[in-house]
Amino acid sequence: MSGEEERKALVDLLCRTGMIKTERVRRAFLKVPREEFVLPEHRPYAYFDDALPLFSGQTISQPSVVAFMTEALQVENGQKILEVGAGSGYQAALLAELDPDGIVYTVERIPELAEYARRNLERTGYRNVRVVVGDGSLGLPEHAPFDRIIVTAAAPEVPRALGEQLSEGGIMVIPVGPRHSQRMVRVSKKGGRLTEEDLGFPVVFVPLVGEQGFRA
Ligand code: SAH
Repeated sequence: MSGEEERKALVDLLCRTGMIKTERVRRAFLKVPREEFVLPEHRPYAYFDDALPLFSGQTISQPSVVAFMTEALQVENGQKILEVGAGSGYQAALLAELDPDGIVYTVERIPELAEYARRNLERTGYRNVRVVVGDGSLGLPEHAPFDRIIVTAAAPEVPRALGEQLSEGGIMVIPVGPRHSQRMVRVSKKGGRLTEEDLGFPVVFVPLVGEQGFRA
């Protein structure tokens, strides 16, 4: 099978299992070449529904989980989006594909991974993504507020800074819980107040390491 056929087969699976729910997200998944974001030695596994190791002990998330979070984020046209945890840049590419008129900021604490994400995004042609090195548990105050925030590392609780940097009517999706098991939470801001909704989806993410996350 070609890369494109393999991608189509994975997307069909994600639709059948209900992880992809909307045509918009389906189209974005069909466009973004995941093989360009995994390490070269993992290319044969790029379209398995599995997380894969990157380096520095980090991983590119499992496609099912990426699909679930992307659907839960309910991205609309022309939004300002913050991702915390750039990793390979794959999730950022999906967001950029979903919202070509918007802008995606993705923060990564490990400089080598930020550089890796930047190169992957450049090679695949995503120009509406900015990769920033830093502690994303503090958000990105200079670019706030954000219409959407997606955190792709596990947080002990919703970081206060991220709640503050969410726009009115904004949505954040974040795995919350102890180091080795979390639940997916959707946070919405209405009338300046945050409400948390447990999406009933158990996950295990690498830790959000930072001032409003876990200690290293
Ligand atoms: N979204 C990525 C996968 C993320 S893995 C992808 O699509 O490939 C989680 C990433 O979060 C790791 O790269 C890790 O280094 C990063 N991370 C952990 N704590 C962080 C923090 N406080 N700020 C920014 N990035 C962080």
